[in-house]
Amino acid sequence: MYPEDKLAAIAYGDDVTLTDRDLASILNGYEEMDEALFMASSIVLDRTLGRDTYLHGIVQITNECQRNCYYCGLRRSNDSQPRFSLPFGEVMNSLTRGYNAGVRSFMLQSGELLDERTVSLVEHLLLEVEKKWGDKVAMALSIGEHPLSDLERFKSKGASRYLLRIESSDRELYMKLHPRDSIHRYSSRLDCLVNLHGSGWETGTGVLVGVPWQNDAHLAGDLRFMQRLDVDVCNMNPYAVHDGTPFAKERRLIPPAEERLLKYLRMIGLMRILMPDINIPISARLLSVHHSGPMRALKAGANAYMANLTPAKYRRNYDLYGGKPAETNSIEVVVNDAIRLCENVGRPVKLLDPGVSRHYRKRMEEKE
Ligand code: SF4
Repeated sequence: MYPEDKLAAIAYGDDVTLTDRDLASILNGYEEMDEALFMASSIVLDRTLGRDTYLHGIVQITNECQRNCYYCGLRRSNDSQPRFSLPFGEVMNSLTRGYNAGVRSFMLQSGELLDERTVSLVEHLLLEVEKKWGDKVAMALSIGEHPLSDLERFKSKGASRYLLRIESSDRELYMKLHPRDSIHRYSSRLDCLVNLHGSGWETGTGVLVGVPWQNDAHLAGDLRFMQRLDVDVCNMNPYAVHDGTPFAKERRLIPPAEERLLKYLRMIGLMRILMPDINIPISARLLSVHHSGPMRALKAGANAYMANLTPAKYRRNYDLYGGKPAETNSIEVVVNDAIRLCENVGRPVKLLDPGVSRHYRKRMEEKE
């Protein structure tokens, strides 16, 4: 069976397996293949999770980072990056404004800082959230590779979801994206993900699409990696080069924006077909790659939207991949824009919902 026929059969509801070869052909795609893919992935999404989009509110608590990832504008050696750390009160103010606008799923995000001051700040924030809203909200963290002891502290204070992106599941490519030293080890990243998954966290990871030296075999391997790890959330991004990073010198190796976006959309479509009940979030930063990016990603199979609730004056300085739009909108406008965007593509936002991944719920039920 040709891959297009398999996609048509999947859309029809048949139980069809995509081989590694199919994945590579679909990733390499062409117009008719893309049509078949996105038709199948949106039908699979409707059939499994329905048409609603979950809304997650992110607050970026600091852009300081101890790491030096070659693709990231927050890397510690980027001296041109103004740094910020949000005071406790400003974080709580952002979360409260998000809550009042109907958001019930929040993520605290930062570069990687493993010191006790940061760990205890996160703990205090989690405790305050627990005190204010209890289990009405879900709290996610995306704050780097913490040891098990820290993860246990966060979990006991109410965090339930963790995002730790692998960026590339291919060990060799991973090593080209990161310095070769003790804090950028592929094996530690993997161990941390396995620990998170095994210790009851709703576990998210993801990859960058369009980085130098990446090919379709790498991306197909990434899809299989998500399946093997049995992720609950897959958070991917199309790569955009940041001037303050070593990869600014590798521009010739980076595909044009439309190509990167298309490849990313194919990854979303395939991920949805391979793991129908996981959450696949997107964010407004896709607008920096293409003005139609978020809409196309929702049509390709994404089912969650990450709205940036960081106070506007800091938002611009959390620029991982470059080209971040100068968003100065208030938190209320950010939430309303997200609601309108999702509504416009026929995937309305489900307000007042903590947005727990169906895959995770099932996994936890089976464990009991
Ligand atoms: S990708 Fe994350 S860990 Fe790496 S430099 Fe950027 S913020 Fe730090």
